[in-house]
Amino acid sequence: MNEKPRLNTKSVRGRIVRAHRDRPVVEPIFQSATFEASSFDTLLRVPSADRFYTRYGNPTFTATETRIAELEGADGALVFASGMAAIGTALLAVLRAGDHLVVQSDIYGGALAFIGEWLPRYGIDSTRIEPDDPDGFERAMRKNTRAIYIESPSNPMLKVVDLKRIAELGRRHGAVTMIDNTFATPINQRPHEFGIDIVLHSGTKFLSGHSDLVCGAVTGTKALIEELSRARRSFGGVMDPHASWLLMRGMKTLALRVERQNENALRLARHLQGRPGVRRVHYPLLEDHPQRALVRSQMAGGGGVVSVELDLSPEATRRFVESLMVILLAGSLGGVESFATIPALTTHAMIPASDLERQGITENLVRFAVGVEDAEDLIEDIDQALATVAS
Ligand SMILES: *Cc1c(COP(=O)(O)O)cnc(C)c1O
Repeated sequence: MNEKPRLNTKSVRGRIVRAHRDRPVVEPIFQSATFEASSFDTLLRVPSADRFYTRYGNPTFTATETRIAELEGADGALVFASGMAAIGTALLAVLRAGDHLVVQSDIYGGALAFIGEWLPRYGIDSTRIEPDDPDGFERAMRKNTRAIYIESPSNPMLKVVDLKRIAELGRRHGAVTMIDNTFATPINQRPHEFGIDIVLHSGTKFLSGHSDLVCGAVTGTKALIEELSRARRSFGGVMDPHASWLLMRGMKTLALRVERQNENALRLARHLQGRPGVRRVHYPLLEDHPQRALVRSQMAGGGGVVSVELDLSPEATRRFVESLMVILLAGSLGGVESFATIPALTTHAMIPASDLERQGITENLVRFAVGVEDAEDLIEDIDQALATVAS
């Protein structure tokens, strides 16, 4: 028996346990808000229960959480109503008044707003560091730094942060290290293997993979997950059991989808590189990525997101995106369908113009979230849209 299944097997089956006979192949949905107890004794054994009251837990969550934990190589996982519910709950569970947080400057806008706008109300201060300034993280550490929060690769410039170095820095200062691993997925990068404490996901993206759910997840050690589980109960950001079941269903093809998305994204990036009308292509696995050695040391694949600086005016860039036929004009990413958006106008619109310019997020930067279609169709679509704006 194979004790350590590989990633596709793990996506489909999780850990292989042969005791499961006379059971459905697919986990059932426990679409129930509460559970009947056989006696008061069992009813009162509340804490660890996933059969007490669904805000505390639910067997459908447990099945999904076990799969996510196995994929990330963690002791445990928790699912949440959204990626932001997972991120917010994790930050509030780790930090308290008077603490300091060191945070990467170009993380997901929603997380940045949570840290910048809401945490100060509870007496939690933060320092922002550019992802390509590894010494900056070190310099920013204070006596009261309780956590380091990163995202790698980052959105939309696909910069990477040295996971091993961050994990060591956290350990040296007694700070909890947290990463948003949404873009990489556990198929391309497993941060716990590098010593990172908490891994966060917007399950809305690659984990569920079909653009039909909003959900989130956290993985970590048993102790951290127990603490976060108490926080989830109090803050209430649980998933619906049916949504959790759909997430589990989506994850069975996670490795399959991500491998195809890696392949499509790399082909698209290579096609665009050096093409007339294209100024610069950002993708972790391209030969000219400024942190190529680091990418190779911590990522197994480049992921499904490619950002492209076009040699076009802001107006022409908009017309380019609107001229795409196969690739949909939409925010979000990680689905089986390909999307294109202009981050400066959409996902990053709330960020001050000076910050955007410094990060290179201009109005002629297009972010492609590559799906599982045929790469030739995506490439032909981009070529026809570029030809349309050129004419
Ligand atoms: C979408 C996203 C989030 C937020 O997740 P929701 O499910 O929308 O709440 C967080 N981080 C990253 C990197 C994302 O792409």
